[in-house]
Amino acid sequence: MTVRTRFAPSPTGVLHLGSIRTALFCWLYARRHKGEFVLRIEDTDRERSTEENVMAILEGMEWLGLDADEGPFYQTQRFDRYREVINEWLADGRAYHCYCTREELDELRAKQMEAGEKVRYDGRWRDRPEPREGVDPVVRFRNPDDGEVVVDDQVRGRVVFQNSELDDLIIARSDGTPTYNFTVVVDDYDMQITHVIRGDDHLNNTPRQMNMIAALGAEPPVYAHLPMILGPDGAKLSKRHGAVDIREYHEEGYLPEAMLNYLVRLGWSHGDQEIFSIDEMIELFDIADVNQSASAFNPEKLRWINQQHILAMSTEELGERLVPFLGKAGLDPANGPLPSHVAEGFHERADTLLHMAASARYCYEDFEDVDPKSAKKHLRPVILEPLKVVRARLADVPHWGQTQIAEAVAAVAEDYELNLGKLGQPLRVAVTGGPVSPPIDVTLWLVGQERTLARLDKAVALIEERAAASAG
Ligand code: GLU
Repeated sequence: MTVRTRFAPSPTGVLHLGSIRTALFCWLYARRHKGEFVLRIEDTDRERSTEENVMAILEGMEWLGLDADEGPFYQTQRFDRYREVINEWLADGRAYHCYCTREELDELRAKQMEAGEKVRYDGRWRDRPEPREGVDPVVRFRNPDDGEVVVDDQVRGRVVFQNSELDDLIIARSDGTPTYNFTVVVDDYDMQITHVIRGDDHLNNTPRQMNMIAALGAEPPVYAHLPMILGPDGAKLSKRHGAVDIREYHEEGYLPEAMLNYLVRLGWSHGDQEIFSIDEMIELFDIADVNQSASAFNPEKLRWINQQHILAMSTEELGERLVPFLGKAGLDPANGPLPSHVAEGFHERADTLLHMAASARYCYEDFEDVDPKSAKKHLRPVILEPLKVVRARLADVPHWGQTQIAEAVAAVAEDYELNLGKLGQPLRVAVTGGPVSPPIDVTLWLVGQERTLARLDKAVALIEERAAASAG
């Protein structure tokens, strides 16, 4: 049997972290078992589904590399098929028309509530074949009256539902449109889904869906209902905990592999390993290792995992990924060092690509003024002469390489009996405008010879001006 999983998002909201974790588990399970992964857009709620949300789903999946073997299928394009099944079921009694009016249902509900009973449809149109004038009927599925439905859930274990608790579900509204639980069943059946992996908010739908699958004469798929993702405060993860829309993480410069690594650990573990490559996830993932309890979203851990993936990536690759973020930071990648060189210099100190691009601003763009606090502390008259000398030596470096730069700086420090930091920090402030940057040889190398010299000239002039001002 070929394993077939599906991700079936409704485009009624943004593609959020919880949905992606579901998609990831479905995808991993299919890849692990050399199976197939199907993407199905459940867009039957026409009022709340938007084209923009559909695009966000497709783009998000593509960015994350969660490629589908089939689909995207759109439920709105399958209405004929749903109608066909409904007609078949109506013809042989697996479903029936119900002509109850809103008032009648309200009355039934009021009565049941008064009697302290569970509110449910009482089946009054089950055996009344004659239509009622002036009422557009709904179609209801004839649920079995008794017996139980056992969900052998791969995460939750055995969950038993009594048929007596389930009423006859509406499968088509009075305007003829099919309803969610029914379309899922027809689709899972037609698409030969073997494993349904989804959020545990759907667990209560499962016995109804299993009864309908049985009505189709098929065996139910294997179910795995994933526990919720909570916010750091223990409430269901939502916008107020920060970004839940995957696009925001993309824009901030998280790596897709880091997102997947972070999400796979929400509910799944393999010993105490934290960092997984995608290949490792595929090799190791198993539904049986999914946790039963909810897990909490932790943005700091996500940043940490992102940084680990940044560190593990080759600087060439990282440089390529950095290019769009330089653009986002308003920098022109052509007007400065190679992005792979920036990646080499900055990968240990940036936790996102956007952060890396922003930190490298002085490599691509001149700054107006040196940070005043750093200038006061490090650009002082005592350093004037060493700075002039180092400027002259750097001007003579024939090949602008890290070793040559390091040698020039070390030689001047030695001549003046300065420890390296005593010269390095003023140099850094002069060339970057602030007190933090990669090691000084790397920093100057990235800034480039021409810019380094020009900025040193400016710093020298600044120190001289200040000295003159205080002397006068
Ligand atoms: N469309 C449903 C949702 O977005 C998922 C249905 C399912 O996985 O069975 O919640």
